[in-house]
Amino acid sequence: MGKNVVIVGGAAGGPSAAAEARRQDPSLSIRIIEQGEHVSFAA
Ligand SMILES: Cc1cc2nc3c(=O)[nH]c(=O)nc-3n(C[C@H](O)[C@H](O)[C@H](O)COP(=O)(O)OP(=O)(O)OC[C@H]3O[C@@H](n4cnc5c(N)ncnc54)[C@H](O)[C@@H]3O)c2cc1C
Repeated sequence: MGKNVVIVGGAAGGPSAAAEARRQDPSLSIRIIEQGEHVSFAA
């Protein structure tokens, strides 16, 4: 079973962390949890 990454917060830091995690390990299963309506909007 592959590794799972859960990131809380989808504004700026969350998607950046997800992208870097994907670069480090393309096989990761990555889930971003955002309480708001939009993601990747902050910077
Ligand atoms: C007044 C002001 C003006 C700024 N202007 C600029 C600018 O012009 N250009 C620029 O590049 N930067 C600007 N910044 C800085 C930029 O907004 C921050 O550096 C950036 O938003 C930080 O991103 P972050 O992902 O670390 O945190 P945040 O932006 O705080 O995002 C955190 C996210 O996590 C979510 N979250 C929190 N708790 C939970 C939970 N329990 N479950 C699910 N989701 C959750 C929130 O909804 C939010 O979307 C400004 C900041 C401020 C305060």
